[in-house]
Amino acid sequence: MTYAFEPVGVIRSPYREKFGIPRQPSLANAARVTLELLPPYNQPDCVRGLAAFSHVWISFIFHQTMGRGWQPLVRPPRLGGNAKVGVFASRSTHRPNPLGLSLVELAAVECDHGVRLRLAGADLLDGTPVVDIKPYIPFAEARPEASGGFVSGPPPQLRVEWSANALQQLAGLDAPPDFALLVEQVLAQDPRPAYQDDPGRIYGVSLYCYNVRFGIREEIATVLEILE
Ligand code: SAH
Repeated sequence: MTYAFEPVGVIRSPYREKFGIPRQPSLANAARVTLELLPPYNQPDCVRGLAAFSHVWISFIFHQTMGRGWQPLVRPPRLGGNAKVGVFASRSTHRPNPLGLSLVELAAVECDHGVRLRLAGADLLDGTPVVDIKPYIPFAEARPEASGGFVSGPPPQLRVEWSANALQQLAGLDAPPDFALLVEQVLAQDPRPAYQDDPGRIYGVSLYCYNVRFGIREEIATVLEILE
């Protein structure tokens, strides 16, 4: 049996490529993410009552990686990239069915000219197809006593510094508000692949229409340059 789904909406986000996207939602709440509902769901009736909820579950398709198949065992970044766990014990994007699930803050519901949900802190690529939206119900779903397996707390954060050059470029940009904060939140997550520690290397992360170049040395990420 197969089941075909159509997207109910599409994500607009500052994350234009996978590299640099936080590995879970809420790690970078300065990201301005919008979920645009598609016809015939882009009518106010479909979201009536939703604005009263502070958080929503977003079910989406890992559309950019879905061609890559899956393996029974995966290496989660949180385990350093060496130890393996079962695919169903992980949040890996490479799954039998390429479905993602993110709990995100619902900042606003806008119903003028279609329907848009403003989300804060989503870990979603620009263009991600969304297959469902559900309100988060704290009494049933918040479980402070739950054990988190190999993910026992938030990941360690890097310190982020700006070079004089990058600061000067930042001052001249017509960037969205919170752009500098977003850069800091994204780099603090340490976007490098788990096994990589090359202090001489320069990385680039795409945020909005900018390419942010940075290096990492001794747990400090330094913003070197911002290219348009
Ligand atoms: N919270 C989700 C996602 C966890 S994996 C879940 O638990 O199901 C998070 C990673 O998904 C991010 O680091 C990003 O690189 C990746 N991602 C986000 N949107 C994607 C998309 N449309 N296609 C492929 N990968 C995506």
